[in-house]
Amino acid sequence: MTFLTIDDVCMTYFTKKSATTALEDISLAVEEGEFVSLLGPSGCGKTTLLSLVAGLLQPTTGKITVEQQRITKPNAKIGYMLQQDYLFPWLTIKDNITFGLKTMKALTEQSQSYALSLLADMDLADKKDHYPSQLSGGMRQRVALVRMLATQPKILLLDEPFSALDYQTKLKLEDLVFTTLKEHQKTAILVTHDIGEAIAMSDRIVLLGANPGRIAKTFAVPTSLKKLTPFDARNHPDFNRLFQTIWKELESLEQRDYK
Ligand code: ADP
Ligand code: MG
Repeated sequence: MTFLTIDDVCMTYFTKKSATTALEDISLAVEEGEFVSLLGPSGCGKTTLLSLVAGLLQPTTGKITVEQQRITKPNAKIGYMLQQDYLFPWLTIKDNITFGLKTMKALTEQSQSYALSLLADMDLADKKDHYPSQLSGGMRQRVALVRMLATQPKILLLDEPFSALDYQTKLKLEDLVFTTLKEHQKTAILVTHDIGEAIAMSDRIVLLGANPGRIAKTFAVPTSLKKLTPFDARNHPDFNRLFQTIWKELESLEQRDYK
């Protein structure tokens, strides 16, 4: 059954002086357990689309539903993780990962021990009494991942979560996020401008063109790659084939924009 439905969505930002149409005619259906990447150049509306799915913004026209329920405001079923971790610097790691549970009034001994077990899965059990400033960028993103998973959302929205990290850390985190999400059977949408990351992580890639943001093309990732971890997928011959195809498609999109 379709888990997330984006139905003919348009989004225009209005200010006193101007109107910017960020997205036009976006329709997309995501199945339960599916991992979809939104790939496209900067400014094509990727973050806008995630904010709409998260219920942080309302579409100008069209509608978005999760499990047949219309999304009009943030919802406990939906978890959001950003490029920057936005951990609270004055809270310990333990207090950061249980913050969402507290605000949802869902902090119990059980939910807290679940959050701490996720922290242990991320190899960070010994950091629970540390403060964010004492951790590396990769560790902080792992904490942000735990914070998002702690409230047990059904769908995860990841907005360029690896783009501020060095390459090695990024590759390691891709594998960790991939295996964690598969283990917990989560539905996920990843926003990225990195073709390789999209191929390595997802089941399906939705390519967005800019001005205004529209769906240009969708690519199904072959099973040969889907069953591998991101690191291994990057070393498979089918990876380069799909990379070339998507590269060419992006190039032709950009040429069209310059005309
Ligand atoms: P991406 O994440 O793909 O880089 P965004 O969704 O951030 O793209 O932005 C898409 C378009 O919408 C851009 O033209 C951007 O300038 C515009 N935009 C984004 N947020 C706002 C806002 N709050 N007010 C006005 N325009 C915005
Ligand atoms: Mg963005």
